[in-house]
Amino acid sequence: MRPEILYPFFADTISLPGVGGRIASLLEKIVGRKVLDLFWHFPVDIIDRRSCPALTDIKYDQIVTVKVTIGSHDIPPKGSKRPYRVWCHDDTGKLQLIFFHARGDYIRRQLPEGEDRLISGKVEVYNGALQMSHPDYMLSPDQQNEIPAVEPVYPLTAGISGKVMAKIVRGAIERLVELPEWQDKSLMTREGWPTWFDAMTQIHNPASTADLLPESPARMRVAYDEFLANQLALEIMRLQNRRKKGRALIAKGHLKKQLLDNLPYDLTGAQGESLQAIEQDLAQPYAMMRLLQGDVGSGKTVVALLAMLVAVESGAQAAMIAPTEILARQHYTSLSQMTEGMDVTIAILTGRDKGKARQKLLTALEAGEIDILVGTHALFQKDVIYDDLAFVVIDEQHRFGVEQRLALSAKGQGAMDVLAMTATPIPRTLTLTAYGDMDVSQLYEKPPGRQPVDTRTIPLSRLDEVVQGIRRAIKSGTRAFWICPLVEESEVLDLAAAEERFRHLEHIFGDRVGLVHGKMKPKDKDAVMDLFVRGDIDILVATTVVEVGVDVPEATIMIIEHAERFGLSQLHQLRGRVGRGPEKSTCLLLYGALGQGAAKARLKIMRESDDGFLIAEEDLRLRGAGELLGTRQSGMPDFKAASLEDHGKLIPMARDDARLILEKDPELKSARGKALRILLYLFERDEGVKYLTSG
Ligand code: ADP
Ligand code: MG
Repeated sequence: MRPEILYPFFADTISLPGVGGRIASLLEKIVGRKVLDLFWHFPVDIIDRRSCPALTDIKYDQIVTVKVTIGSHDIPPKGSKRPYRVWCHDDTGKLQLIFFHARGDYIRRQLPEGEDRLISGKVEVYNGALQMSHPDYMLSPDQQNEIPAVEPVYPLTAGISGKVMAKIVRGAIERLVELPEWQDKSLMTREGWPTWFDAMTQIHNPASTADLLPESPARMRVAYDEFLANQLALEIMRLQNRRKKGRALIAKGHLKKQLLDNLPYDLTGAQGESLQAIEQDLAQPYAMMRLLQGDVGSGKTVVALLAMLVAVESGAQAAMIAPTEILARQHYTSLSQMTEGMDVTIAILTGRDKGKARQKLLTALEAGEIDILVGTHALFQKDVIYDDLAFVVIDEQHRFGVEQRLALSAKGQGAMDVLAMTATPIPRTLTLTAYGDMDVSQLYEKPPGRQPVDTRTIPLSRLDEVVQGIRRAIKSGTRAFWICPLVEESEVLDLAAAEERFRHLEHIFGDRVGLVHGKMKPKDKDAVMDLFVRGDIDILVATTVVEVGVDVPEATIMIIEHAERFGLSQLHQLRGRVGRGPEKSTCLLLYGALGQGAAKARLKIMRESDDGFLIAEEDLRLRGAGELLGTRQSGMPDFKAASLEDHGKLIPMARDDARLILEKDPELKSARGKALRILLYLFERDEGVKYLTSG
């Protein structure tokens, strides 16, 4: 239950002065629906009105507050486009106020001739004459305190002016109340941090630009608050998993032995170690939550299969979820191939399966006749009932967030063992914030015999030569991916570009070319992919839909058009589609205009490195963490008050703090524990609170 003290924070923004239905929906787009969301909408600049010069001393454009006497009004004739002008002066000089599209009667009321006024706004100097268009404040001298000395400037959305936004946030900030302190007193003293209330008040009332800096004590304090909430939530989940009476899945080893005998290769050292860690987890009487990180091509699938076989050996079922239909089918195919001749039943279920066939599959699943079920999100559906699901593998973990992980665990009887896999190498700090509730294994080496992909950068102007090169290569029996550019995040434009390239290549290579893109029906997409997998077409033109996981070992050429528009990690993922077989592979990065340094630097790194972790670190350095994975699809938590780039170094501290707190006070019962519960609700990281028994 949310603490009562926080109720006003969770009210709709519509309850704030100046917010009606229209503004509330505009706000929702950039800030959110709740008063609380405005708390985290931090100012990005200030307007300093403290400068009150005599008019004669104003020599350049600046923001000022001046006391003047109103002089004559220069009223434009009706229908004229001329602005309305008002002369005013002090003892030292003159100032002209300018109003475009003015309502004359309003100005005459506000600025009666002969009276004194306080005027605040931006003065512009034209050939020594002073002008101010549309002053921000025009008040009588006794209203001085209605002009703020320093005003915060907030990020805006179309339809809400700076003034209105500032007023709305001010309204929200007035709802702030002191909350019981959840931070350790000695930590606060050491760091010189204010209380949460003081920090928030300071953040929204900056006195100078120094107060806007991420390293200001107030901002550090709330960033740490947020990281602590994040780490506490993850730690509660982790402990909860440990506490859940899990099922000990004990490997009998017969299927494992059979599979290892079947495989045409030996496991790498890293695969062996990861498998061992997984087997140990599975044998424990609590639920496993492990992340298996491994670069593209490092051989995660076979590790996943061996892990699933442990469940099957002990008489239970396993499921494997992939983010796309194509990937699910590939997994299904490769798992089926690897287990050929073994007594293991594998089936696939995706959103496409409907009607009788689906019903038949569900019946078999519920009867326990299926050992391993592979599929997409369809595996989450309500009517998918397992006989005895004990273990789930989630491929390409970064597409699944914490909520999905939770939804999934609900499918099993009691505790569920989960193995998440990702090919995206994630820097350590990010791992802590996203997967702090998991243990991590890494496939730090690739299977032997892989030749690095020969990566070259070529200007697009040499496209014809590239096409000739492909023609020669195809004659000798290889296949090529041709990835089309991202055009400003617009799928429609992406598509147009891909279709144009497709027609161009079709003109040259005839029906040996296929096209796949994100807008196609999954069935049609798979049909084209199948042609490519079987070698019925030689060139696959694609938008980035092939990004994750597809395995076509015969493909040895990867062409990426306008490579300068892709992020490093994305380029690395795409390149990982080739170099999977024994043949030497090539990746051609075709670039248009390289522009400034970053694009050039990215392509250089691609030429020089094949190491996913190094590339991820460089990506982080060049782009910043927020962009790295694209928060939306990454499963990375969205931070409101903290930024990974600026405050990331606080994360390990928050992690240790969270562990210590829950060790000493596992139910958060102490006075500080109760305050920490408020913290969890404040940052909406309260999913785990229900697991703390005492309320
Ligand atoms: P990813 O980690 O990208 O999912 P895959 O599991 O698809 O990688 O494996 C990539 C390729 O490497 C597959 O063709 C697989 O058969 C092969 N492979 C996996 N493990 C080994 C190994 N130990 N030795 C040789 N080849 C391996
Ligand atoms: Mg894979």
